[in-house]
Amino acid sequence: MHPRLKPALRSAWRSLQQVQFGITPAHSVLLGPVDTTTGSLLSLLDGTRGPELLREAARKLRLPDGRLELLLDRLAAAGLLDDPADGDPAVIALRERPEADRLRSDLASLSVVHREPGAAGRRLAARRELRVQVRGAGRVGAAVAALLSAAGVGRVDVLDGGRVRPWEVSPGGLPGDAVGERRDTAARRLVGRSAPGGRLPRAAPEGAGRGAGSGPLAEPGLALVVVAPRDGIGVYAPDSRPAEDWMATGTPQLYAGVAEATAVVGPLVLPGGTACARCLELERADRDPSWPRLVAQWRSGLRELPPPCDVALASAVAGLAAAHALAFLDGDLPASTGARWEASLPLLEWRSERLAPHPECRCGAAGRAGGEEPGAAPEGQDTMGGTAVTGGAGGPGRTRQGSQGLGGAYV
Ligand SMILES: [Zn+2]
Repeated sequence: MHPRLKPALRSAWRSLQQVQFGITPAHSVLLGPVDTTTGSLLSLLDGTRGPELLREAARKLRLPDGRLELLLDRLAAAGLLDDPADGDPAVIALRERPEADRLRSDLASLSVVHREPGAAGRRLAARRELRVQVRGAGRVGAAVAALLSAAGVGRVDVLDGGRVRPWEVSPGGLPGDAVGERRDTAARRLVGRSAPGGRLPRAAPEGAGRGAGSGPLAEPGLALVVVAPRDGIGVYAPDSRPAEDWMATGTPQLYAGVAEATAVVGPLVLPGGTACARCLELERADRDPSWPRLVAQWRSGLRELPPPCDVALASAVAGLAAAHALAFLDGDLPASTGARWEASLPLLEWRSERLAPHPECRCGAAGRAGGEEPGAAPEGQDTMGGTAVTGGAGGPGRTRQGSQGLGGAYV
């Protein structure tokens, strides 16, 4: 290991004896008390020195035996250390790829979020092995697919039928020269162009030309389905029928879209763990007996007219949905797990609603005590993120205190 203080977390001396790493409350850590000698040792943790060189430096600084190891253990426990010499073969392979530079900011972001030394590189490398399906190639769906591809997800399939219409073009999604082209073909090219380093478009998956809901069953290795229909009704009132295949195969689903002038992100459905589309249908019908009648009319009234879809709102939804998807794919449970986030023009105040599993739904989520809660790792997902420490900068009282006792009398 060649320990390095995470360069993504900006450090600043809060006082003569306290160093703050990080700016924002979510990820900052306060370190202290730190004496002058320890401060000198900290400056050597830049990833260029292995254990032997560091031990030699510690001896020169007249630090007692074991003090260096204690410091490193505590810095690692506080999520402040990285290991640029991580020997994971997948990480090495990723680092040597020509597109590695394109992902450096994403890697830095992952190093802020995931605490263990080397965890960021392993997460980024793991994305390459994942396969995600995006249902819908409108302004939201196409942009979500492009973002996931740009973030290093190895395979992003976009399923939609028909041809690109002029009002479906957006800066982050399908380009103007795609108008008139088959939506699935144009979306595949977009995904390929968006990938770090660029990639040739993959062959169309089986059934790609069919509309959302009638495509192929989830294939092995499908990590997530993003349901982003061009018509926002499919997100505002999710149809449980196309979800049956995903529920049967245990494939998680994330809903995202724009309904009229309302942005919708979520829910992220963990089959058998959180409320599914059928749970939503049953629960809403309990509260409003007219709901099934309304939804049936809305769905039957699909028109060729352009649906309302503000380009900025659609882009915001796509960005947020992609971030939620990536958080999940990286091993966490984002705030959309079993919940829906909405914001409406023109005030754009985000509000969330927790969605309770329905006891009569066959998905079985209602039988699980407590269900899945955001922040915990889903079953079957590796959780390299470690134990979360509440924290926050903005004042010593709100900053993470995971590394108190370093320096001074302790070190
Ligand atoms: Zn259900």
